[in-house]
Amino acid sequence: MEEVKGQALEELREKRREAQAQVADIDRQIAELGGSRTGSKAKGTRRSSSELTCPICDIKGHDGRAHRGQGKNKKAFTEKELKERSLPLG
Ligand SMILES: [Zn+2]
Repeated sequence: MEEVKGQALEELREKRREAQAQVADIDRQIAELGGSRTGSKAKGTRRSSSELTCPICDIKGHDGRAHRGQGKNKKAFTEKELKERSLPLG
């Protein structure tokens, strides 16, 4: 029984490694295309959200990640939407 568990664990770890390798590869591609920030420096340097500037709204207080829920066609938040999300108005 334990052996089966161990095998399952090993398989999952292997899948995890593959997934991480994929993420690293995607990050590298993003960096190559000029998306910069997502790459190697993502770890450790956690900036507070007030220092961020949103490339979509062109205001401070959040970044593009706040727009993830908008899917492919991202657009700037309106004042109302910013308030709904408890984001500063810039
Ligand atoms: Zn924004």
